[in-house]
Order: sequence, then structure tokens, then C-alpha cells
Amino acid sequence: MASYFDEHELTDRTSNPDFFLELARMLLSPSDILEISRMAFDQIQAPPASKEVVESLPSIPITTEHIVKGCSCPICQVEFKIGELVKKLPCDHMFHKSCILPWLNKTNSCPMCRHELPTDDPKYEEMKVLKVVKEQDQQFRVETLHDSMFS
Ligand SMILES: [Zn+2]
Ligand SMILES: [Zn+2]
Repeated sequence: MASYFDEHELTDRTSNPDFFLELARMLLSPSDILEISRMAFDQIQAPPASKEVVESLPSIPITTEHIVKGCSCPICQVEFKIGELVKKLPCDHMFHKSCILPWLNKTNSCPMCRHELPTDDPKYEEMKVLKVVKEQDQQFRVETLHDSMFS
């Protein structure tokens, strides 16, 4: 006989987001987990990075200097090798091409610092501009308020 408590416990477990995270941990690779947890944090689903921008990302060869600093790909955690060509984002973060390209196909920001790349989505670009205008406007109001209080 299934008691009330059995069912109750089941719904409790499945409605708990950690339950799915646990399940995901069992089924997926670490880079998948990183991506899923990021997607969960991002309430606004950012569109993929612009294909043109992605194609024009510079490929730079790894030098001894990088190795000395202990550079590894933040997505797969594998250390870079000397002479290896890696993709460098405008924020200076470096990734294997095979790691960052699928990422930028889904979302437009750096997995490390969330630096945003341009997208091909006009609506999203519009929203981004509005957001910047709004922030500048708030900054302006704070400054005006400050001036009116202290002058
Ligand atoms: Zn990698
Ligand atoms: Zn970055």
C-alpha cells in the first residue's frame, strides 16, 4: 500500500532542484554540468553569439609564457600544450576551439567572466542597449541627487 508519506516524499524530491542536479551529475560530464548550472542561473536566455563574430575570434598559439602561468581550458580543464592553437575571446580568456565553439553556439557570453559577444538576434541587441541606457540613466540620477544634496 502506498502511504501518503511515500507519495509526499516523492513529490518533495522531484520538486527539489537539487534532485535534478544530482541526477544530472550522475549522467553528464563536468562540462555539461557547468553549462546546465549556468543556464539555470541565467534567467534571461541569451541567444547564441553572432556567427561572424565567432568566426573572427583570433586563434592564438600557446607559448611557453602561457605554460609557465599554468593555462588550461576552463571548459574541459585540460592544460594547453605549446604550439596549440586556441581561441581567445575579447576578454582575454582562452579556450580550445572545440570547447568554446559549441558554447558560443548556445549563448553569447564568456563562460568565465560573462563578457558578452554581439549576437545575431536584433531583439536581444535592442534589449541590451535599453539595459545600458537604463543603467546610465540611473547613474545620472544618482549623480544629480548627489549634486543636489552636496552643492
Ligand atoms: Zn577545452
Ligand atoms: Zn572571459
